[in-house]
Amino acid sequence: MKILLVEDEPKVAAFLHQGLSEQHHQVDLAADGLLGLRLARQGDYDLLILDTLLPGLSGLEMCRQVRTQNTSVPILMLTALGETDDKIRGLDAGADDYLVKPFAFQELLARIRALTRRRHDVPPAGGVLRLADLTLDPASKMVHRAGQPVQLTAREFALLEYLLRNQSRVVSRVDILEQVWNTSFDTGSNVIDVYINFLRKKLDKDFSPKLIHTLIGMGYVMKEE
Ligand code: CA
Repeated sequence: MKILLVEDEPKVAAFLHQGLSEQHHQVDLAADGLLGLRLARQGDYDLLILDTLLPGLSGLEMCRQVRTQNTSVPILMLTALGETDDKIRGLDAGADDYLVKPFAFQELLARIRALTRRRHDVPPAGGVLRLADLTLDPASKMVHRAGQPVQLTAREFALLEYLLRNQSRVVSRVDILEQVWNTSFDTGSNVIDVYINFLRKKLDKDFSPKLIHTLIGMGYVMKEE
């Protein structure tokens, strides 16, 4: 895979660059956010790994700007702080996942596999998924509500696809973590609720009927009410 790594700490950057290269990835390295953004716009990357605090342009702002042009490239944020607020700001800026420093290299590889698996390994199963006036096309990665295109990040798309494939069935947070995140996430994290809210804002807020429903203590279900 072709990976863009934007990290300003030389030791961390060198360690990650070497480790990923040994895994046969092609890694471009930028040490500040402005150069990172320029490379991200020029290069056809399979994955972006962005440190949160960067000179020039923060990782969050870089993520936001990348997302205005490219909604599908998976973005993994590295955060040194590990505070929920930073994680959520990263996700809000359009990142697909985050990793708290310090982390084990194997954990990084697991996240990379989970983030890129969908794009490379999973053949689209079946045709267009529908619920009321919502459609999701696994092949073209297009989502429409009431005929209007809806822009989703890779992770939002994966979550919506999973919910639609299980429509009218209650799925638990554990189901979602296993099936959509492919990884055991921080326990106690409210990342799924955050993502459900992203989907609600994009898909339900301005439309009727509401399609995403919360069952307190049980999970979520997509259905026409
Ligand atoms: Ca930094």
